[in-house]
Amino acid sequence: MLDGARPASGLVERIGETGGRLVHTPRGGAEREAVQAFPDHGAALKAVAEELAADGLGLDSPELAAIGHRVVHGGLRFTEPTVITDEVLREIRRLIPVAPLHNPANITGIEVARALRPDLPQVAVFDTAFHASMPEYAARYAIDRAVADEHRVRRYGFHGTSHQYVSRATARLLGKDPAEVNVIVLHLGNGASASAVSGGRCVDTSMGLTPLEGLVMGTRSGDIDPGVVFHLHRVGGLSIDEIDDLLNRRSGLLGLCGDNDMREIMRRADAGDPDARLAFDTYVHRVRKYIGGYYAVLGRVDAIAFTAGVGENAAPVRAAVTADLEELGIAVDPELNSVRSREPRIISPALLPSGGRARVAVAVVPTDEELEIARQTFALVHRSAEN
Ligand code: AMP
Repeated sequence: MLDGARPASGLVERIGETGGRLVHTPRGGAEREAVQAFPDHGAALKAVAEELAADGLGLDSPELAAIGHRVVHGGLRFTEPTVITDEVLREIRRLIPVAPLHNPANITGIEVARALRPDLPQVAVFDTAFHASMPEYAARYAIDRAVADEHRVRRYGFHGTSHQYVSRATARLLGKDPAEVNVIVLHLGNGASASAVSGGRCVDTSMGLTPLEGLVMGTRSGDIDPGVVFHLHRVGGLSIDEIDDLLNRRSGLLGLCGDNDMREIMRRADAGDPDARLAFDTYVHRVRKYIGGYYAVLGRVDAIAFTAGVGENAAPVRAAVTADLEELGIAVDPELNSVRSREPRIISPALLPSGGRARVAVAVVPTDEELEIARQTFALVHRSAEN
């Protein structure tokens, strides 16, 4: 049985850069840190395996039922968790052109894990999969269909595992079945995306062909007029690669004010820094536009759920995003909003300040993509064993 308990957790940062860092925390034990270079994802995963072995959680454990992998882009083919075969791996490789930053690292992880435990099922859980239920009119860009189809240009959406986990956890928090509720999920982390989830199925999401579309993010612009690209190229003289770098790595909050950490931006804005204030306001304005848009897409909204680094921790962002929306049945209780906790919780009042019913529950729901990947992996392996 998978009870959701976590024997250990950890992460490796700055792989392939100088000053790599591994953090490993066994359950009930102290955090261990190793600052060293990890030349590639293979070296990083081997170091993680060694840390696990030191806690008696070696990858050779007979208790291990499967290994679940996050794979960012599943294209049109992969809309469900999938046992990884050579053919599946070839297909994930074929998708590299639409996810050049992510899929190669995911493939390395799979290859190393397969070499470590060739006997175990390895399962890919795709970041795009939850969004495959979007209706065609939400997934299409209004461009020439033949060109779009030839180059597989359409809206795929990302952070799907998080949107799925959080929308279900929000339904549970309301004491309802996911099939009964409509939820707007705001995944506000370094990458940020919104989704409209109706009865447990995604009907729209803010990221598109790549994770660049939509909300203002740490370093990504989110929505811009595609004409900006032509203008920067033709008039500004920037190459396509320079524009790619600009929009993905030097834009968003960082581009607007020089910082991409919301904590620092809020501190600077409170101290009267106009650039930080503008970055904060631009970020909030974009989120509010998506709330309005998804309210109309869903028709009825039962809950708005905040998640990820900013969504879970930045009470001022939650307050600004939901301010003056009483007409839509949306409000946040300042006291509930200021509580810091790792538990899913509702922060809207029962009654609006004006006296009407707060029709929309506003919730903070910490995301847990690892648990969701483990659950989906276990369910698939368990199903396969039964058939
Ligand atoms: P994530 O990608 O979900 O790990 O989110 C990372 C981002 O969350 C950071 O870049 C910060 O901007 C933001 N963040 C983390 N903790 C806080 C906090 N206490 N207050 C405001 N923002 C935070």
